[in-house]
Amino acid sequence: MKKNSVLVLIESGEHEGLAAVSREGLSAGRRLAEILDTGLCACVLGHAVEEAARELGHYRLDTIITVNHPRLEHCHPDFTLAALLTVCTDVEPGAILMGQTLLSLDLAPRLACALDAGLVTDCVGIEGDTRQVEFIKPVYSGNILARLAFTSGPYVATLRPRAFEGAPRQEETTGKIIALSPELDAALEQTTVIERVTDQDQGPALGEADIVVAGGRGMGGQEGFRQITQLAGLLNGAVGASRPPCDLGWVPPSSQVGQTGEIVAPSLYIAVGISGSTQHIAGMAGARTVIAINKDPRANIFKIADFGVVGDYTEVLPAFTQGLEDMLGPGMREVKP
Ligand code: FAD
Repeated sequence: MKKNSVLVLIESGEHEGLAAVSREGLSAGRRLAEILDTGLCACVLGHAVEEAARELGHYRLDTIITVNHPRLEHCHPDFTLAALLTVCTDVEPGAILMGQTLLSLDLAPRLACALDAGLVTDCVGIEGDTRQVEFIKPVYSGNILARLAFTSGPYVATLRPRAFEGAPRQEETTGKIIALSPELDAALEQTTVIERVTDQDQGPALGEADIVVAGGRGMGGQEGFRQITQLAGLLNGAVGASRPPCDLGWVPPSSQVGQTGEIVAPSLYIAVGISGSTQHIAGMAGARTVIAINKDPRANIFKIADFGVVGDYTEVLPAFTQGLEDMLGPGMREVKP
């Protein structure tokens, strides 16, 4: 394995295979490795990771590193960090990439600090040559794209979901699998996990959904979100929200889209009762098509919407949903927010 390789941290997928964000990490990693003319390796940490490692063999990697340990089953931050540091000591990577996820928001700064490395978060592009690589990152709620370069390595970068194409899966397999077995002593634990809450939502994950139906403060309460949920179910989409409905407890905090929530880039984003603040738009500006429903014709959301309906959602949404039901027929799935 080449010293100064690009190392990609893999998160296993929701159902089977690799998470979309990891496939995107592999294509970004491939791009960076080509720019730097170095090797590409990936590591998967967890418990029972053999299948994920075998799957990684289909992604043109030079090396696949596994760390298999019962203490890594639930991505505990302290044990995950310790395991990743073991991998870094072994691989001596020049760059470490990971998706911008709940795990990496916690892990990436700790890792950079422990390695005395630079960190750039929320990257949407990588450009450059062997002399200088630039990481492109939206700042000021996406109004400006900053270009950042590191003067020395190693460095850590997190990648915005959907900003990079997912790496294509090859039929043939490549890459040597290396299994590491660090100690992960109980004394490493500095953070106590009090409770684990499993998302009961049956639908696609918000960050990976192709269609998102999102509600804002204009929904007025949980009853309004019942209608959002029904529409999302019909479209096999995910339920999203602006910040106020999350703060008010109408939907779980994991539904929040925006600067301080999830960044989504679905094919279709339906925004209902959302005014279109810069903080909200920062999380959904990458949507291919935006439909806005709002009773205020001057609402900012209409400036970025491809289609807009000016009206009260209590009248517009039932008619819209009914029209879809008539079009799609019975037997549609309903997801819970
Ligand atoms: P409002 O701005 O109150 O808009 C409600 C809209 O609903 C209005 O346009 C109104 O015309 C419409 N409406 C009302 N009733 C109806 C009806 N019956 N039918 C149709 N339309 C109706 N916000 C986020 O969303 N995500 C973030 O990640 C985020 N991060 C933030 C980070 C910081 C540091 C700060 C300071 C703020 C952040 N915010 C975020 C909050 C943000 O500034 C806005 O306050 C928020 O996005 C507004 O949410 P909203 O559009 O649902 O509510």
